[in-house]
Amino acid sequence: MENKTFYNESLTEHNVHPYHKHALEGATMALEGVNPSCGDDIVLLLKMDGNRIADASFQGDGCAISQASADMMLDLIIGKDREEALRLADIFLRMIQGKASAEELEELEESSVLSDVAHMPARVKCACLGWHTVKEMLEKKKDE
Ligand code: ZN
Repeated sequence: MENKTFYNESLTEHNVHPYHKHALEGATMALEGVNPSCGDDIVLLLKMDGNRIADASFQGDGCAISQASADMMLDLIIGKDREEALRLADIFLRMIQGKASAEELEELEESSVLSDVAHMPARVKCACLGWHTVKEMLEKKKDE
């Protein structure tokens, strides 16, 4: 029950006051992520400093879960290097399938509140949108 309250409060807080929803001056990468089944449409902006995510933001619109998930994700990955961000994305995407361990969930910090979405199939794409988008961006960079 307590966990449910925390989940709702976190989602609300990140929707009312999305900390990372803004334009990003000096962004080095941008990619749009779309989830047509819900209407979520976001653009992720990354400012890479070599291998490190020096800063990041998102813009666009979508449902509460997609927006809160993107905002929490950016809290977690800003300042991390590419490999670490990809590793966290992998944990998040496995968490949504109900396949991450308790230790792994701790690494996700606030994003772990979205583990409940594993039981809401219609919202899975919303929760994963930001993570899928950042994964695509960082994997692309790796191939260059
Ligand atoms: Zn959505």
